[in-house]
Amino acid sequence: MSTRPNPRQVHIETFGCQMNEYDSELVRTLLKREGYVFTEDRECADVILMNTCAIRENAHAKVYTHLSDLKALKKTRPLVVGVLGCMAQNLKEELTVKEPLVDVLAGPDAYRRLPMLIDDAIRAQEQGLGSKGLAVDLSEYETYDDVTPERTGGVNAWIAVMRGCDNFCSFCVVPYTRGRERSRDPQGILDEARRIADQGFKQITLLGQNVNSYRSGDWDFARLISAVADVPGIERVRFTSPHPKDFPRSLLEAVVSHPRICKHIHLPVQSGNDRILGMMNRTYTRAEYLALVDEIRRMDSDIVLTTDIIAGFCSESDAEFADTYRLLETVRYHSAFVFLYSERKHTIAARKFPDDVPAEVKSQRVTALVELQRRISTERNREYLGRTLPVLVEGDAKKSHLQGMGKTDGNITVIWDKSTLPSQPGQTLSLSIYDASASTLYARPV
Ligand code: SF4
Repeated sequence: MSTRPNPRQVHIETFGCQMNEYDSELVRTLLKREGYVFTEDRECADVILMNTCAIRENAHAKVYTHLSDLKALKKTRPLVVGVLGCMAQNLKEELTVKEPLVDVLAGPDAYRRLPMLIDDAIRAQEQGLGSKGLAVDLSEYETYDDVTPERTGGVNAWIAVMRGCDNFCSFCVVPYTRGRERSRDPQGILDEARRIADQGFKQITLLGQNVNSYRSGDWDFARLISAVADVPGIERVRFTSPHPKDFPRSLLEAVVSHPRICKHIHLPVQSGNDRILGMMNRTYTRAEYLALVDEIRRMDSDIVLTTDIIAGFCSESDAEFADTYRLLETVRYHSAFVFLYSERKHTIAARKFPDDVPAEVKSQRVTALVELQRRISTERNREYLGRTLPVLVEGDAKKSHLQGMGKTDGNITVIWDKSTLPSQPGQTLSLSIYDASASTLYARPV
């Protein structure tokens, strides 16, 4: 770790998925090694970095709003503004040409060059030059295997086990912004898991854009997750985000039988209609997906299944949308993230299919799915009434510090009154469920 006589203060803001949260931790480590210090206060920062997401329209819009907020700040004092992550990769032309505010752009495979880019930008500003630093090359090899991300504490630690994606779902920008799939060496991952356990974390979440396609030599994802779950001190292991095509029997058996692998599978379906699934390039049919759900539930009927859905994909008819609606009724997920289709630049769908479902129809479909899922989630959660569940304490509830908050093995939020049960993050409590809403279980001591 190098020190500087007058260290520059960096403020980083993170948008989008857990992989971006993880990457921000990597960036912290890489910049601290070069003598930068971090501040939570953007008002006193010399460098403001935005780690961005290009997957959804709203994350994209938020970044532009934050950029315009910085204009006033930048007029008052020297300030280096950097855009990192998927937007830097996907919108490099737009951001370099149209955003004079942005000094540094770095894609997800270029973070090792970030200290140099920021140094150069600071020097250029001191000399009154307006040059921009740009690093957006994609790598076939970069896994940051040797960089231990700086974790800010808590109960859960993320480990990125693979990066990139080869699936090319037609709506998705990730293969263009994060490049081809590459998996980390398993021994490096296990060393990291042991260090995480030594630091007192109780839960590890294995991360990857397509996490269950992990492969390194003769290690597949089933072997990797079982080995991580065997690390002493780790009580729970989760994983996200998987693709339904990569669930061999060995992985299902590992999830179902290993006591420390959480009984929760996120199984993004995206659509319940075969024509739309084909256009999305999801590589499974409705029947194949439902067969996988049946197989999982035959192995463990209590497992929590969740999903992602896109409503209003190109040319989706009312009847095709109804297939998705019925699929939700059939599977009865515990929860579902429903998104309105928004065209992303450079994707296959943007090039091949007109985005022709009217905005109000898309919104109606999202509303219908959200209402249906809310009803199903409430019914599902009410199945826990009267049961006693182990709950890993995460901290205080968002709405009140008088309530504790934790998660079940199936990743369902549980709230309790701390006056009846004082609790510390990292503890596992046995709690009796007495009430339930669509998103929360309410518990008391047994
Ligand atoms: S599997 Fe599909 S949706 Fe997921 S990251 Fe890859 S291309 Fe995107």
